[in-house]
Amino acid sequence: MCTFNGILKEYPWISIDSFLTTNCQVSQVFFISHIHTDHLRGLDEPIFAEYITNNRSIRIYCSEASRHFLSILPAYKHLSQFYSIINVDQPYTIENPMDKNIAITVTCFGSGHCPGSLMLLFEGSHGTVLYTGDFRLYSHQSNRHRIILSKKPIDTLYIDMTFFEPSIRQLPEREQACQELIHFIEQYDNRYFYLKTSARVGYEYIYTSLYQHFGILIHVNSEQYHLYDYLPQVQQALTIDAHGTRLHACWPKCSCAKSSIKIVLSVLWFTLQQQQQFNSPLIQISTDYYRLCYSLHSSYNEICTFIKQISPTHIHPIALPNQITPSRFNELLKQLGIDQFPTIYFSPSNFEQQIKRRYQTIENNNSNDDNDELDFDCGQNQENNEKQLYKRISNLQQPPTKK
Ligand SMILES: [Zn+2]
Ligand SMILES: [Zn+2]
Repeated sequence: MCTFNGILKEYPWISIDSFLTTNCQVSQVFFISHIHTDHLRGLDEPIFAEYITNNRSIRIYCSEASRHFLSILPAYKHLSQFYSIINVDQPYTIENPMDKNIAITVTCFGSGHCPGSLMLLFEGSHGTVLYTGDFRLYSHQSNRHRIILSKKPIDTLYIDMTFFEPSIRQLPEREQACQELIHFIEQYDNRYFYLKTSARVGYEYIYTSLYQHFGILIHVNSEQYHLYDYLPQVQQALTIDAHGTRLHACWPKCSCAKSSIKIVLSVLWFTLQQQQQFNSPLIQISTDYYRLCYSLHSSYNEICTFIKQISPTHIHPIALPNQITPSRFNELLKQLGIDQFPTIYFSPSNFEQQIKRRYQTIENNNSNDDNDELDFDCGQNQENNEKQLYKRISNLQQPPTKK
């Protein structure tokens, strides 16, 4: 989950993935790396709409896919006229609307996280900055790295370090996880399957692979279906006809999927089982209840490979592993040859923030529309999940014990 405040230290007139009052006070140019809700904080608030309506020079830049998604999602479509497209691999010069003498060159790259997700490279008088957004690049996918490396050396790397923890050294590649899922489904000719996803987008590879393999459409709700009007190659794998299929990824779960085999697509649960080694990305939890390790974020090894290739002077994490301490974090960075001063300090409350936000989401919305792709679903059903989360939050609210 993104915990970055959005403001680039080097270029505070630019905010990325955060649209709160603090951002509006200093930034006039905004970027959206992708459409998971932890990267859209404040964008749906009336205060931001008012700010942008009263300041017509303000711009919000995003990929074409993100603009399409945002322009049809109820919470964000009122800002349609303000989303400006930036294309990948194409440098743009962007002026500071408050001072035309200040400009920056921005180039974006795909980040391998979800449709339309971008990495952003900024080049200007205060140094070269790369913002990865959420990213998943396998260690052998070095093409994108090479493109970035052909640019100037990176002064600051703002990077998704969600799994920057040696115990999460490797995560199954998504193709491998999907293959495992296909093998599993193949064993049950007559059973119904319910795939529990935890974000709006990011599971397209699963949908299209299942459709290609089985020739069976996947049931989703109408909003989800029309999200893919822009991506017909994904949409052709989906259906809004609940009765016509035994593969369901609908939300809320339709009555046709009631006695199905439930498979939760997520990764966080696996990373929390620290002592356990899993031989397969798909594991059984109980009768008709399974989990598939499907990560949209890079593993520890993948993050390390990326950092070594980029070799930045400074690192600024935009997301951190659960409960990592600043000293541990800085020690791990040193092992990668990055000995920055001042060392990074952050409050080790990242995990608490995540759980609290997730709980508020469930409380307020009771749907998965506002979740991002890190799933806290630890129980058999929504009610259990809420209880689990509530328990964890209650514990968090106790005063901290002194060590
Ligand atoms: Zn994301
Ligand atoms: Zn369904």
